[in-house]
Amino acid sequence: MVLPGPWKHIVNISKGLKELGLDLENGFRREVKEGNNTLFWIDHWCGDSSFHVRFPLLFQLETQKWCSVSDRLIMHDGEICGQWVWFRVPTCQVEIEELRGLLLACQPVRLVSGVDRFVRSFDEEKFFSVKSFKAKMEAIVGSDIGYLIEWNNFVPKKVGILAWRAEIERIPVLMALTKRNVNLESIWCPVCGDAEETAEHLLGSCRFAQALWNGIANWCKVPVIYAFSTRDVLELYKYCHFSKQKAKIFQAVCLTTVWCIWKARNAAVFERKPVNRCNLIGEIRVRSFLWVRNRSKNTRISWEKWRRFDIENI
Ligand SMILES: [Zn+2]
Repeated sequence: MVLPGPWKHIVNISKGLKELGLDLENGFRREVKEGNNTLFWIDHWCGDSSFHVRFPLLFQLETQKWCSVSDRLIMHDGEICGQWVWFRVPTCQVEIEELRGLLLACQPVRLVSGVDRFVRSFDEEKFFSVKSFKAKMEAIVGSDIGYLIEWNNFVPKKVGILAWRAEIERIPVLMALTKRNVNLESIWCPVCGDAEETAEHLLGSCRFAQALWNGIANWCKVPVIYAFSTRDVLELYKYCHFSKQKAKIFQAVCLTTVWCIWKARNAAVFERKPVNRCNLIGEIRVRSFLWVRNRSKNTRISWEKWRRFDIENI
């Protein structure tokens, strides 16, 4: 059985698993410590569901929908305080009621030192790992669940998580927000304006993304990249005929590209910054260099060689 990714699989089989006693919808949440790696609005980390579901009007007013818990909450004299950045302050009665509810929900939160992580609540083993979850599902389903997106520890986890979410159309692009009944002036891709903005379009078929991927192909000396979907992008490294180590580095470059496209898109939407392909390729080169060098613990990688993607002998 070939599956497109663990989360798509989880979503697809969640009903069946519920009948078997595994409630996935309420089975995961983020345990917040410092709040740096938990998305304030998007992740399920406080209460029964994500804040963007519980407080949709406030989510609409949020300027940085992808912000972290530590972006919005800080500790001050032992108390939690909000730092809100709205398009405009909440004014109408319903918005103010939502704000009251949000403040009440945040009141017991305490940010402490430590790393945020996924926890699950459906069995005695508290902490989440893809491997253990896969084993759990296989025990219930009684078969090998097959394909999983391969984690790459050369990039931060938040980058892998963004790629996951993009693959299952769970990043807040304009079409996704429209489906959640958020009123928008336009649903057209803010980068090219040619098509409705979905994750698949933004990262794959958008003409800007296509040009960017060709820039990456040119730099990494791989054949011209035709990526029409997020999955195409995430699996490029499998078809580049590189050594195992070099393919892992190329995968890190592709994940960094996904990350940088998303950041550039957000800057275009929220800060009106024009997207510049050449600048973005430069940023991808620098960012992926720093991530790979620091995370692979291989300090022999030189910038000069990286610029040429000459990484055969590192
Ligand atoms: Zn586009």
